[in-house]
Amino acid sequence: MPFCGGPLHYATYERKPRGGPPDLSEAYSIRLSLCCGWPGCRRRVLPPSVLFWGRRVYWAAVVLVVTALRQGRTRGYTVRRLQALFGLTRPTLSRWISYFRQQFSHSRCWQRLTGRLMPPVAAHQLPGALIERFVRARGEHEAALVACLRALAAGP
Ligand SMILES: [Zn+2]
Repeated sequence: MPFCGGPLHYATYERKPRGGPPDLSEAYSIRLSLCCGWPGCRRRVLPPSVLFWGRRVYWAAVVLVVTALRQGRTRGYTVRRLQALFGLTRPTLSRWISYFRQQFSHSRCWQRLTGRLMPPVAAHQLPGALIERFVRARGEHEAALVACLRALAAGP
């Protein structure tokens, strides 16, 4: 355990992220987690994940795609439509947009990733420009999104 030096134990738990298809297998709801094995110590470590975005209640893919659609003012994807498709509220959408504008570009994750992107991706165009970069490299949208989520989750 990085904080206290205790032994690592598995402590997976179930989460039910929102915004995904209703028939998604339960297997995806397992959040892998590690906790300290020392009695009384409750420290926890969350390994990087392509499914979950920190403690957000929506799937990571939904956070990325919806924010990019809204940010790019993508034709046909109005706030109302995104709300209907993913069960979002307007405040949630606003929070995600300001998260990418104000916090994500300062995150360790982005600092690690940005140095590898040539030409650079402008911080104010996140996350749309990052997804586009992967789409250009992969050609296919689904593979591009998976590659993007993997890169974001790769850890330091
Ligand atoms: Zn501990």
